Amino acid sequence: MSSTNHSVRDSSWISWFLGLHGNEFLCRVPPDYLEDKFNFTGLESLVVNFSHALDLLLDPEYDNQGWDNGVDTTDAEQLYGLIHARYILTPRGVEDMCLKYERGDFGSCPRVYCKGQKTLPVGLSDQFSQKHVKVYCPRCHDVFHPRTRFALLDGAMFGTSFPHMFFMQLPNLRPQPPQEKYVARLYGFQLHQKALMPSESPEREPRNSGSSLSKSTFGNLSSSMASCAPSLHPIKF
Ligand SMILES: [Zn+2]
Repeated sequence: MSSTNHSVRDSSWISWFLGLHGNEFLCRVPPDYLEDKFNFTGLESLVVNFSHALDLLLDPEYDNQGWDNGVDTTDAEQLYGLIHARYILTPRGVEDMCLKYERGDFGSCPRVYCKGQKTLPVGLSDQFSQKHVKVYCPRCHDVFHPRTRFALLDGAMFGTSFPHMFFMQLPNLRPQPPQEKYVARLYGFQLHQKALMPSESPEREPRNSGSSLSKSTFGNLSSSMASCAPSLHPIKF
């Protein structure tokens, strides 16, 4: 088993970063992976102060003066996020993330019929600063917003491929699709599919739009409010 988990505590920049509130989705990228320059190929051009960021990432004494030391860590956070996205696609990275998945660190699917299926983090883009992280449910194959405390993590820290690589490497963990599906009913009767679709006929402007009723009653309604009150439209003769 890998030792690359949150149980490692030291004064390094990585320990400080992983300990921040809201960063619990992230796993620890091991030192030997960070020290292999090959793993950073192509990232030099994506991070503005690459050398400084890498120095910070590898700094073992960063937190000795306390976290409030005034150092700008934005570039280091981006670099760590991008190398983290690469690491979790490796067998060791999948193993580390599997520990967190089985512990329920990434939360569960909100769909009733997914019955608390555990989720995995996913990005909707592989580029930094495009989208925040989402969670993917392997039962219904949909994506959702994570709990608020994790919602500000960048999606590129996980990338678009991670959950799919995860289940390719661990196919035994792939769950069955939901056995039940929600059925819309009205007074116990199942609704026809057409009844659930938006109306096909466009709404027409009332012919007597100049009347005092339409002006005073509907003239100032926002479109969203008006859409909630279709039965209140003036009667046409
Ligand atoms: Zn689901």
